[in-house]
Amino acid sequence: MSLSRASSGPVGVIGAGLGGLSAACTLAARGHKVVLFDKNPWLGGKAAVHSDQGYRFDMGPTILTVPSVLERIFAEAGERMSDHLDLRRIDPQWRCFFEDGSVLDLDQDPRQMAARLRQYSPQSEKGYGDFLAMSENLHEVSKKFFFWRSVQDIGDTLDFRKNFDIKTLKDVLSLRMGSTVAREIRKRVPDPRVAQMLDHFVQYVGSSPYLAPAVLSSIGHMQTQEGVWYPIGGTRAVPEALTALAERLGVDIRPDTGIARIVREHDGRDAPVTGVVTEAGETVSLRAVVSNMDSVRTYRELIGGEADRRFTGRKSREAACSGVVLYLGLDRAYEHLAHHDFVFSRDPKEEFDYIYHKGEPAPDPTCYIAAPARTEAAVAPPGGDALYILVHAPYLRPHHDWSQMLPAYRRVIFDKLARTAGLTDLESRIRTERVLTPADIHERYRVLDGAIYGLASHGRFMGAFKPGNRSREVPGLYLAGGAAHPGPGMPMVMMSGWIAADALDTDARSNSGSAVATGSRFGRKRSAGTPASQPALVRQGS
Ligand SMILES: Cc1cc2nc3c(=O)[nH]c(=O)nc-3n(C[C@H](O)[C@H](O)[C@H](O)COP(=O)(O)OP(=O)(O)OC[C@H]3O[C@@H](n4cnc5c(N)ncnc54)[C@H](O)[C@@H]3O)c2cc1C
Repeated sequence: MSLSRASSGPVGVIGAGLGGLSAACTLAARGHKVVLFDKNPWLGGKAAVHSDQGYRFDMGPTILTVPSVLERIFAEAGERMSDHLDLRRIDPQWRCFFEDGSVLDLDQDPRQMAARLRQYSPQSEKGYGDFLAMSENLHEVSKKFFFWRSVQDIGDTLDFRKNFDIKTLKDVLSLRMGSTVAREIRKRVPDPRVAQMLDHFVQYVGSSPYLAPAVLSSIGHMQTQEGVWYPIGGTRAVPEALTALAERLGVDIRPDTGIARIVREHDGRDAPVTGVVTEAGETVSLRAVVSNMDSVRTYRELIGGEADRRFTGRKSREAACSGVVLYLGLDRAYEHLAHHDFVFSRDPKEEFDYIYHKGEPAPDPTCYIAAPARTEAAVAPPGGDALYILVHAPYLRPHHDWSQMLPAYRRVIFDKLARTAGLTDLESRIRTERVLTPADIHERYRVLDGAIYGLASHGRFMGAFKPGNRSREVPGLYLAGGAAHPGPGMPMVMMSGWIAADALDTDARSNSGSAVATGSRFGRKRSAGTPASQPALVRQGS
């Protein structure tokens, strides 16, 4: 860490989602002065909280996996995650309700799961083991080539001239390029119910298993290896812990501050970033910027011009799915529910076809239920339950008007929960209800077409590649979040924030390469804003 660099003017982070918070903490831990902006009054982006009449709901993510990523962010500052978060392992990880009335739990321990399958679907026991073995191998390859570094395409991961050897060839072949997650699962697992359960690992990235590249099967092993976790206080406790870390590290936190534009030295090609203009019209000089705003919207709305055209021209980018979320405070608990439950659709092919091809809500959807009172009683008054119900929906199309569509779709969801999960009196037990539609998600978090999980991971060959964390179009611009590498979901966006920060820091240290380091303006300008030590006033996410 270099104090001279720390005293040479701040860097900025636009957006305080989990990606932006992770980037801000990592940069501050490495000695940079950091200004963190968010248009909302709370920090954490989608990891927000809703409280009403003694009920508390996480509004966005509820399943925390791969906590080692979060540990690494705390370790950057020489701190231990366990001193700040009380994580509880959730096992069984999911309870699955199927249309035929059967119920299957997903255990973390593969041997225990194999024994369970021996009873439930003996013909799937071996295939499940084979799937996990493939998933583990793909996870190992991902760690080697994709994780913890800025990657945009295959050229960033493999230099065929330098590294081409038998081992690399084996790794490349094991990626099963040209195949999909659904295909690899169905090659091994004959029972459609077990296959449907395994399909749902890619729902963490809001993509169809029929379109997602086989490499994303690696998510199965990530979850089996490190487990599923619940932080006491809800997943909301994660951004709260990161916010507290950012405050300890002296980050200048500015909630309620939307950014309208990223400023560059001039309009020409390769002109470096020099600051931002807030929606209130204030210009803040910055040496470099990490954008945690959706990457497509960052280029379109904050940069524009030729750089945007070059970014857009590289690859067509499709939004991941959106969703409808119901937050229901109930006067009773359903003891047959586990902490995490999937109430599966009658036909996954039909469901995914509606969401990802036709672009319409599925007539018989899969409903995910979180019932966190199983782990933390304080989320509901005694005897009650705080249920969170998420149904994936297509990203917003121009003709979608959710104020019109919601009443009928809400009915579809309640009917499904009654028929397949036995929640027959659910509606009559509601004491408080709030709903989030794709239109609400679009507005609240300023995402692409209401997408929950950034950009879709579709494409048998290149579907896993997202925009890299170090911009190829604009020197001094770095990208973090679900619409940047390595993609969406809590652990991946936190890794994305770390990679963006690491890339910026590396460029700042280097005497050649990016203009952040080489531009003569590096360290010349100072923030027009408040000093880094100013205490942050941050309201609770709502
Ligand atoms: C309903 C739902 C359920 C989910 N479930 C899970 C789950 O169980 N497990 C899991 O791992 N993941 C889940 N996810 C996905 C996960 O929440 C996201 O991938 C992750 O939280 C996104 O983080 P992010 O850093 O990309 O930014 P976001 O959370 O999208 O935050 C971006 C921030 O940038 C701010 N911003 C945007 N533009 C500007 C601007 N111009 N100026 C200032 N600020 C700006 C926004 O206000 C926002 O705070 C879920 C998401 C949702 C919505």
